[in-house]
Amino acid sequence: MSILKVARMGHPVLRERARALTKSDLLNPLVQKLVDDMIDTMREYHGVGLAAPQVHEGLRLFVALLDEEPGPSSDVVAVVNPEIVPASPAQEEGWEGCLSIPDIRGRVPRFTDVTVSALDREGKAIELKLKGFPARVAQHETDHLDGILFFDRMRSMESLTFLDEYSRFHEKEDDD
Ligand code: ZN
Repeated sequence: MSILKVARMGHPVLRERARALTKSDLLNPLVQKLVDDMIDTMREYHGVGLAAPQVHEGLRLFVALLDEEPGPSSDVVAVVNPEIVPASPAQEEGWEGCLSIPDIRGRVPRFTDVTVSALDREGKAIELKLKGFPARVAQHETDHLDGILFFDRMRSMESLTFLDEYSRFHEKEDDD
């Protein structure tokens, strides 16, 4: 197990479009080790998602907790080459943070219901129907694969908040 170094905002790798993985890439033990290390890294930093560009790998791959209420026992899902289609045009603003933008929170509009078509880490086709927070996480992580950060999606910078102030003033806000 290795904890990987997380790229922070400003590193060019976070602004590049990542490349798709082939099924034979997924047979490569180094790619499987990357997935394991990304899971360890996400858990180490208490993230709910981590995309490969955040650990300096320009590959279309993320790991995430896609439960309604993520906790320490939640299963981690590895998602490869994701394609997201909104199931309805409805969007909702909610708080987001990012391991590449430490200690900052901001409110970001996202589609509330999405279908994610992807491969799992073995190369098998999967389809995930997600609502609410897990849908938000999948959209945030897929954006990383296209060089997009959550700041880019905010309608206004007015909600930008440091983590301490978020905990003091905003954490109890009911988003849903
Ligand atoms: Zn992020």
